Amino acid sequence: MGSWSDFRRDRILVAGQWVSADNGGVLDVIDPATGESIGTVPNAGVAETGRAIEAASAAFETFSRTTAAERAKMLRDLSTAILDNQDALAELLTREQGKPLAEAKGEVGMSAAYILWFAEEARRVYGDTIPSPWGDRRIMVTKSPVGVVGAITPWNFPSSMLARKIGPALAAGCTVVAKPASQTPYSALAWGVLAEQVGIPAGVINILTGSAREIGGELTSNPLVRKITFTGSTGVGKLLLKQAAATVKKVSMELGGNAPFLIFDDADLDRAVAGAVAAKFRMPDRHASAQTDFMSRPGSTTASLKPSRTPPKSWSSAPGSSKVQLSARSSTMQPLPRLRNSSATPSGKARVVTGGKRHPKGDRFYEATVLADANATMNFAHDEIFGPIAPVFKFETEDEAVRLANDTEFGLAAYFYTQDPGRAFRVSERLQYGLVGINEGMITTEVAPFGGFKESGVGKEGSKYGLDDYLDVKYVCVGGLGL
Ligand code: NAP
Repeated sequence: MGSWSDFRRDRILVAGQWVSADNGGVLDVIDPATGESIGTVPNAGVAETGRAIEAASAAFETFSRTTAAERAKMLRDLSTAILDNQDALAELLTREQGKPLAEAKGEVGMSAAYILWFAEEARRVYGDTIPSPWGDRRIMVTKSPVGVVGAITPWNFPSSMLARKIGPALAAGCTVVAKPASQTPYSALAWGVLAEQVGIPAGVINILTGSAREIGGELTSNPLVRKITFTGSTGVGKLLLKQAAATVKKVSMELGGNAPFLIFDDADLDRAVAGAVAAKFRMPDRHASAQTDFMSRPGSTTASLKPSRTPPKSWSSAPGSSKVQLSARSSTMQPLPRLRNSSATPSGKARVVTGGKRHPKGDRFYEATVLADANATMNFAHDEIFGPIAPVFKFETEDEAVRLANDTEFGLAAYFYTQDPGRAFRVSERLQYGLVGINEGMITTEVAPFGGFKESGVGKEGSKYGLDDYLDVKYVCVGGLGL
């Protein structure tokens, strides 16, 4: 059991060595709750990335030939090491990311769960034999690791988003060059510390911090990298897709979302409100309700969310992750001028039911906010909201609810509440989303596939499907058998 500072590294990990940027440049890491620096990390670029890729490629030669049982053991040990240090890792995560300590602990627990899941899956990478159309030949299908994986991750889940990539990559026998978000690099560098502790060979996991453009450019253009896995915004995802096209890399993209949360008139309202508060005030997006008394409930429930961050014991609610996101939150209080695909100007004005202003805790905190009278012309109907804001739209019919929910280029997650089983199937089948929660607001688990439809992404993470993108399928024809 270490302390959070035992896991804070101010160097990048390349070929098993903790090193500075070539030019000695650094980036500050800011605690979003206080605005103060908690340290620096190297500002690396193309050259360091090239060396990390070469190290990963060299390590791949031997690591890809380890047995599944050996890799499963490494991953099991990694999962145990994460849990043994859950408190320290959670504190590190909260200090750089700002989410409440309990949520950070939950995220670190999810990281351990993903790694354990892929430890188990490593031993189940089965191939096939296929009935041959030729009497003297036999057909086999084998699966092999794709090679060096470039992994780029966002600020909002700085630990678990890497777990979903490192886990399947190592289970398959791939090696990794990872680049976390510049706002939250320490949780990623901590993976390097843990990997060393459990004896994962040098070069198998390399971790870079620094210029996104330079590191991303090298990862997507270097022919030694065979796969890019990215979690982040749709805009950056599209750029990486373009860049990776030149060397035809495999890609997995976990991109933006704008999750609708539908409450039908036959819903169990208490359950729906509890689900909405739990799900939406972690990563809130859109609510729609056919129930007139829905609006009277969230106010009293959100009042129980405690926006305090007096380290270390009472960290229990999130400050803004940055000034930029905080101002984006306050601007969602009114219709914004920029619309997705419409020439219409925003009409009407949302009404604040509860919250709606900066929290007395300080200008880096914002109150959990519920807005009534939202409509489809307003930006939060289409755009991602990073803040504790729940705009509520009213709908009259099931068709309208589904149309409203699908009226976005995103397709990550959708939730709805109904007690009618027919409606449960009808609506879930029509929702154009990769994840659907029916009467449940918290549905993420390592055993189920996570991944979006439409512009929310390509590929799946977690579950038995999460390994597919790290494996090449090879057809082997054995001829001349003289049968
Ligand atoms: P972002 O701005 O797209 O950044 C994500 C990562 O991409 C960061 O490491 C960033 O590095 C890097 N990046 C930025 N520009 C780049 C470039 N030109 N080339 C290569 N890399 C580049 O997203 P974010 O604001 O950190 O994260 C929030 C987004 O992630 C949201 O859209 C959210 O929906 C999405 N997300 C999706 C899922 C999912 O599972 N689908 C899960 C979590 C988050 P720097 O930090 O150095 O700029």
